[in-house]
Amino acid sequence: ASANIGVVGLAVMGSNLARNLASREGNTVAVFNRSRSKTDELVAAHPEAEFVPAFSYEEFAASLQKPRTAIIMVKAGAGTDAVIDALTGVFEPGDIIVDGGNALFTDTIRREKAVRATGINFVGAGISGGEEGALTGPSIMPGGSDESWVTLGPILRSIAAVAEGEPCVTHVGHDGAGHFVKMVHNGIEYADMQLIAEAYDLIRRGTSKTPAEIADVFAEWNRGELESYLIEITAEVLRQTDAATGLPLVDVILDQAGAKGTGAWTVQTALNLGVPVSGIAEAVFARSLSSHPEQRAVSRDLPGAEEDLEVEDADAFIEDVRLALYASKIVAYSQGFDEIRAGAAAYDWTIDLGAIAKIWRGGCIIRAQFLNRISDAYQTTPDLPVLLTAPYFVDALTRAQGAWRRIVATAAASGIPAPAFSSSLAYYDGLRAERLPAALIQGQRDFFGAHTYQRTDKPRTFHTQWSGDRTEVEAEDTH
Ligand code: NDP
Repeated sequence: ASANIGVVGLAVMGSNLARNLASREGNTVAVFNRSRSKTDELVAAHPEAEFVPAFSYEEFAASLQKPRTAIIMVKAGAGTDAVIDALTGVFEPGDIIVDGGNALFTDTIRREKAVRATGINFVGAGISGGEEGALTGPSIMPGGSDESWVTLGPILRSIAAVAEGEPCVTHVGHDGAGHFVKMVHNGIEYADMQLIAEAYDLIRRGTSKTPAEIADVFAEWNRGELESYLIEITAEVLRQTDAATGLPLVDVILDQAGAKGTGAWTVQTALNLGVPVSGIAEAVFARSLSSHPEQRAVSRDLPGAEEDLEVEDADAFIEDVRLALYASKIVAYSQGFDEIRAGAAAYDWTIDLGAIAKIWRGGCIIRAQFLNRISDAYQTTPDLPVLLTAPYFVDALTRAQGAWRRIVATAAASGIPAPAFSSSLAYYDGLRAERLPAALIQGQRDFFGAHTYQRTDKPRTFHTQWSGDRTEVEAEDTH
């Protein structure tokens, strides 16, 4: 046995991760793929790498030093279960199986329990950053046991992205915690992308700027508090010209956004947990709306706003859009971290929210300067109930809120959809409200279903006898 780490599944992610591992001092990497050709190709293409190719699960297990450590990078779902079954057949108690695929965290919880019963450790690890991240340094979000972290920690630290001198990996929490956090990362990514898209759309429709000129706006924004990978690549995409037509590429790309499902998982999970991730949900729904050409076609002649958007002072408008984007982004991240906090409480994980913000600073799609402000906030107040109430964000929102309101109002008045901007503002105002119309909803619920209500002026639970004389009686606490 000569390898200290193994990779199963050598498609684009697995082969890049194996190369990343092999490039680090001290690593010898056992590699295995179901169909032999991928293994042969990888080994032939990279003679410089210390690979130990295996052509059966038995050979793979035999080539690994104990405790054996293997990272699975196969098609999520049935493929992952098949590989786990095969590995548990050839591994021994104390060995470690890591699933680096995009698994649903509840699958990871199930798998961890089943594998643990054999004495083998199972770690679900979210790996972000796509194929380039896998090769050059991803952000890694591992769950699993403390015992496996002892062996796995140094290996993952050696291949992770580095942000401000710190590797972008931390032991997130037990069993499915890592995949849960990776899921929310993707949800936040959906929101961030949608907000940027809404900002672009408003500037495009409100000013005479071309996509290439708007690229300059984003490049400028990328030098300030919005600095992030997504803003940076937005400028690149907007600047691109289509070779075939000479038009801006963004004008020839079909406007129907795809999705692989992790955004929907984030929202489904939030619904189950009762966490209002409205910005993320709007982003997921905006992609769905875009992808129904038949519904869009029959709706095209619906009446719109009386006047198109006409901006007098383009610079002032663009600055308003920037502030609206920043404020809405704070809401999206605040909601995402709220979901992680709720998930940790529901599944009994101890998750250091500040550490999560830190490991997202490099190697992943939402990497941004801004994440330092989030880790600062949780460092100062670890049990902060709402991220956006941290002093730094209160300052930012105070600066931004006027512009944010103007932009949402302008979008509505001119018939420009800005679902993530407007729902983020509604969330903010909902949180701020001294009184919410939830009181009326409680009254309605009590009227039709005797669901009871509580009062502002005394404890206990009450019911109004709506179908009788409408006097109030004390009720059993059933709501
Ligand atoms: P794919 O998701 O396309 O999966 C292909 C790999 O899975 C092949 O190696 C294939 O083997 C193997 N496989 C499928 N079914 C089985 C099975 N039943 N038994 C054994 N092996 C099987 O590969 P990717 O590299 O794109 O992604 C790998 C994982 O990483 C996925 O879970 C994905 O969600 C995740 N991921 C991907 C990212 C990306 O940007 N692509 C980013 C982050 C995570 P064979 O060659 O024999 O068919």
